[in-house]
Amino acid sequence: MYTPLEQKVVDELSPIKITSYAFDKANYISKRICELAERPLEIGFFLLSDSLSSTDDVIQDVYIGDDQKVRHLHCDITPEGMMKSLKYSRQNKKRIIGWGHSHANIGTFYSGEDDMTIQNLVRTWNLEKDTKIGVDYTKKEGYNIEYIANEKVHGLSLTIGNEEYFLTSSIFDDHNKNYNQSQKFRILKDEPITLKYFYGMTFNAANETPHSVIAYIDNTITRKIEQGVTYGIIPSKEIKEEEKLGIDREIISKVEILNKAVSNYKESILSKMKELKENYQRGLDSIDLFASDNNELKPLFQVIKTLGYTKNIINSYHFDSPIFSVDESLQEYKSTFYSWWHELTEKASPLVPLLENRLAEKKVGKKFHDAIFNKKLWEENLLSELINVLTQR
Ligand SMILES: [Zn+2]
Repeated sequence: MYTPLEQKVVDELSPIKITSYAFDKANYISKRICELAERPLEIGFFLLSDSLSSTDDVIQDVYIGDDQKVRHLHCDITPEGMMKSLKYSRQNKKRIIGWGHSHANIGTFYSGEDDMTIQNLVRTWNLEKDTKIGVDYTKKEGYNIEYIANEKVHGLSLTIGNEEYFLTSSIFDDHNKNYNQSQKFRILKDEPITLKYFYGMTFNAANETPHSVIAYIDNTITRKIEQGVTYGIIPSKEIKEEEKLGIDREIISKVEILNKAVSNYKESILSKMKELKENYQRGLDSIDLFASDNNELKPLFQVIKTLGYTKNIINSYHFDSPIFSVDESLQEYKSTFYSWWHELTEKASPLVPLLENRLAEKKVGKKFHDAIFNKKLWEENLLSELINVLTQR
């Protein structure tokens, strides 16, 4: 059951109007953060109107909250992040009219924590809508209404200020009826009010149907309603493919856990870079050395070792992570590593027939096998990979 104000909120403000662009973007962000992090994470964003007017109620864009700390079932936009987000919206002549967030891999319901968040936000930011609502005059100050029933009279006694009225009606004609003297009476009169409200929508990574709520201010008390609140999608532009990379970068730069992951990768790769380059150079030198005197097997082992080492590093960095295709410098490091690896394997490939010849000669073949299978030098799993590389035609 709705209170008159709740009824008004639902009638006047639902369905929440959201463009297909904003809707798709919210779903994209909710799904993409989990892909970038390679695990389920929440994320918070603001629902924006394209206008600064406090009555413009269409969600036209989504802005990922700045400086946020996220976990599996929690997202927290820091106060600094709140200020930055507000600054962004003002500078771009947009207005924050709602709070959206993703529930990662769980349903899109509203949690107790979400209730608190949205009710705090409606105090900070709200939309306004002028309407009229039936005000119960019996509850207004200076008014008193009472039902009086005795042997002589029965009816309503109404006091407005200093004036007293006594009302009778045909419904009170039945003397035998047992009227409840504590019965409440309402005298409704339409009065203009301004609804102050704020939207909330929850999405998830599976892009299930979002959950919508409306927070509003009832005198000075903040409230929230979800029963009967729906949303309606307004067709608009699509998110362009090239725009998605920008959104990915925004997710990484604003979500602490992801931008830390990127800087950790950078730091560790940079520290490995020098070593790997020296190793790569040693590999190239060994290839030259082997080519100039292919009776000497030592440089060949050096080539194998270098290839294995390079591949090992490539594997240790988890270069498949989508983070590497999103961050520009990580992308550059990755391609440098791969170019060294490809150059080495390419240059080592002419050695394959020579190696096969060696293996055909029993004596040399045995030496080679002994060296290869000497586990003091290389890991066994690494070796099988190396042999594959060197023996592929
Ligand atoms: Zn939530």
